[in-house]
Amino acid sequence: MTLFISSEVFPYAKTGGLADVSYALPKALAKDIAIKTVMPLYNSIDRAKHGIISSGISFEKTLGGITHQFDIYFQDGDISKVFLYNPILCDRLGLYEDDYGEFGDNDLRFGLLSYASLELISILDLPIDTLHINDWQTSLVALLAKEVYNLDAKVVLTIHNLAYQGVFDKSVMQKLDLDWERFFKPDRFEYYDRVNYLKAGIFYADAITTVSQKYAQEIQTPQFGEGLDLMLRLHSHKLQGVPNGIDTQSFNPATDAALYKNYDSSSYSIKNKNKKKLCKELGIKGYKKPLFVFIGRLTWQKGVECLIENIHAMSELDANFIFLGSGEARYEDILIQATKDHDNIHVEIGYNETLSRRLYSASDFLLMPSKFEPCGLNQMIAMAYGSIPIVTHTGGLSDTVTDINHVDSATKGQGIVLFSDSRYDVVFGLAKALSLFAHKKRYASIALHNMQLDFSWKQSAKTYLKIYQK
Ligand code: ADP
Repeated sequence: MTLFISSEVFPYAKTGGLADVSYALPKALAKDIAIKTVMPLYNSIDRAKHGIISSGISFEKTLGGITHQFDIYFQDGDISKVFLYNPILCDRLGLYEDDYGEFGDNDLRFGLLSYASLELISILDLPIDTLHINDWQTSLVALLAKEVYNLDAKVVLTIHNLAYQGVFDKSVMQKLDLDWERFFKPDRFEYYDRVNYLKAGIFYADAITTVSQKYAQEIQTPQFGEGLDLMLRLHSHKLQGVPNGIDTQSFNPATDAALYKNYDSSSYSIKNKNKKKLCKELGIKGYKKPLFVFIGRLTWQKGVECLIENIHAMSELDANFIFLGSGEARYEDILIQATKDHDNIHVEIGYNETLSRRLYSASDFLLMPSKFEPCGLNQMIAMAYGSIPIVTHTGGLSDTVTDINHVDSATKGQGIVLFSDSRYDVVFGLAKALSLFAHKKRYASIALHNMQLDFSWKQSAKTYLKIYQK
């Protein structure tokens, strides 16, 4: 049995793609193997809505002289997920941060999650042969499984985004009863006199995956390595890129309940009705104009800066722009001001699953000029919904989107690939998009072709099975 451990799982708790993957990958794997997902039962999770009930099982773990209690919850009628409740881990107004920034005890919180995930193996008597851990939040599991619990299980670590590593003050060693002599070493847990959870995961995992082939190469270079490129080069024999898929049942325009009107590639013209309705609801004039959307975290990574630099240029185009996201206050402020200044720019700050799906279905183009992108789900969702992606040439974007003018492309190009994320190349990309939009037939043939591409987990789930069984 595989234990898939993640700090966020859709639809219970989600801040980004990790939650989507933690929902869709175990679901795809469950067709072939026994797999259980473990996640924290944050107090933001609506227990009644999801039918999450107490198992009546609790256990304690004493660390650093303090006894921590954990309660195990299940979902009514579904034994594939285990929810762990502990007040330090779960009683928060956010998963990792609130309006005042990151929680100061994330080191302890995710250390507790790691310990508790391993404790429950014996408590629930699970015949675990593989532990699949995800990002820094669960990376300590690798160290603990190998060195503290001496488990005879294969540990697979997936790096969803190397930019987040869980680097903390070394005092956490004591809080988590971690032995200085054995673990506080430059090749393991230590990182510039602090501790680095992801680094420990890289050292102790038997296999490491990351979410696209290109990103697997990129992270071994100083440019994308975020200070861990040498560590990753040293462990490159364990490292492999396995592309993410999307849950094609959930992200299906033919059945997606969030849409005003469902459609598929044979009824593509209905997509336009979604555009008309959405523009009306948001008070956007000229629904026939090309509609560009941005959906995502408003952070440096997502290329928000080069879009903001081009706000003026965008405002002069005969097109509409909608931004949906939340993140750094400076970006939010500029975008909110842009909405006030320009009729054709509309911004919705916040996380809104329904609106995001409506935007995929209503838009003609998805803007995704990321500085780096481990895999990226948005571009795949956009293609599945018949919206053409405009992307930078990095990570998973590069693996999934070929430029429509690429002459060597074996398959038809899927989108517009920017030369770089400079403001000039973004403007050039927008101009190219407008030209494509004007050629209705060509636009439709690309969009329809994209809608029929296979973005499911099928292939990648097979690769994970091989990794588990190797
Ligand atoms: P990330 O780097 O944030 O994990 P991904 O492209 O891997 O980016 O996944 C992002 C996921 O989160 C997609 O499902 C996307 O639709 C969704 N998403 C991002 N921001 C928002 C938002 N503000 N509202 C709704 N959904 C969002």
